[in-house]
Amino acid sequence: MSRKSYPGEQVTVSFDGDLCRHAGRCVAGLPEVFDTGRRPWILPDAAEAGAVIAQVGRCPSGALRIEPRS
Ligand code: SF4
Repeated sequence: MSRKSYPGEQVTVSFDGDLCRHAGRCVAGLPEVFDTGRRPWILPDAAEAGAVIAQVGRCPSGALRIEPRS
């Protein structure tokens, strides 16, 4: 398992690179949050939480996930 968490103030996004299909949908859809040229490449607070949740929901592979608040 290589799932990694990217905590934000409102939502925490996690990513599993083994599942990613590299379609780039997340980068194209919400580039302020998902930018593979940057580290960390996911900044969950860079857009409104609803937009982040919606974009994660469009990931075709299940690589991106919204993590429940602990
Ligand atoms: S949308 Fe999902 S499968 Fe596509 S590049 Fe992003 S993480 Fe990978």
